[in-house]
Amino acid sequence: SDAPLYADMSGDAEVSFEFFPPRSEKVEEQLWQSITTLAPLGPRFVSVTYGAGGTTRERTHATVERIARETAIPAAAHLTCVGASKSEIAEVAHAYWEAGIRHIVALRGDPPQQGSRFEPHPQGYANAAELVAGLKALHDFEISVAAYPEVHPDALSAQADMDNLKRKIDAGATRAITQFFFAPDTYFRFLDKARAAGIEADILPGIMPVTNFSGVKKMAALCNTEVPGWMERLFEGLDDQPGARQLIAATLTAELCRKLYAGGVRGFHFYTLNRAELSYAICHLLGLRARKEVQA
Ligand code: FAD
Repeated sequence: SDAPLYADMSGDAEVSFEFFPPRSEKVEEQLWQSITTLAPLGPRFVSVTYGAGGTTRERTHATVERIARETAIPAAAHLTCVGASKSEIAEVAHAYWEAGIRHIVALRGDPPQQGSRFEPHPQGYANAAELVAGLKALHDFEISVAAYPEVHPDALSAQADMDNLKRKIDAGATRAITQFFFAPDTYFRFLDKARAAGIEADILPGIMPVTNFSGVKKMAALCNTEVPGWMERLFEGLDDQPGARQLIAATLTAELCRKLYAGGVRGFHFYTLNRAELSYAICHLLGLRARKEVQA
């Protein structure tokens, strides 16, 4: 038959892309190229992360503002509670609102030293749910929050973590974006539990295209994501073959998205790691095409 060997989800699926702020001017140009490459795919939004410990405050702000100024894509700014008082956070939020930014990804954040525990600022927010409520009291932002299909490492239990997600949505968040995961069933089970807990909001799967297996394994260990044994086998012997790793990453990630789509998922959030080509190829495999009217 003429059935395509890929899933064409161009008719009814939306994507969003996450970037991290540039560390230098040279990297800024690379980031900007990535954004202009991905923009014509017409993402629902693009977001820019906030460095651990709030270390990228200015760079996050500058990048989000530039996206808002120079492209037609809705831009979202990540914002965390780490190391900032409520009034400092209010200042940042006001500046975003003034610049026309209407979407915040509200997070608790992690301390700058890996492995140490989060300590709230004495005049700050204790967790993401409080931050959501605080932001909503300032302006009518659209707010996204984080969700953990494999349970956040600090959570007392899976139920406590789900209750926490519910508090964030009830405080005014409109959607959740998940931590990355590799088994579609992990996501579907989590979604069922969230619905059973009365969470109606969209829960976008966070999609991590893996090119650097050992790097992802380290990251996964820190955030409780299970790395399946077959994945280790898949990347075996490829340490010195970046080209092959890219091709495998694109195929594998498109397959994950295809399975999620088959299970009813219609929105995908890509952790681009600022590499446009890979995310572009994956979206292309999923049937998305550049649209002239959304050119950056
Ligand atoms: P919270 O929702 O506050 O939860 C943190 C933990 O505390 C959970 O275990 C929760 O169950 C528990 N908890 C919360 N409130 C209570 C309570 N009242 N009682 C008991 N337990 C409670 N980090 C960055 O630094 N910058 C970023 O830009 C960034 N972007 C991210 C984007 C996405 C999509 C995701 C999934 C994560 C991102 N992170 C980012 C990481 C995030 O900051 C960490 O995972 C952090 O450890 C938790 O943040 P949170 O917003 O989920 O916290």
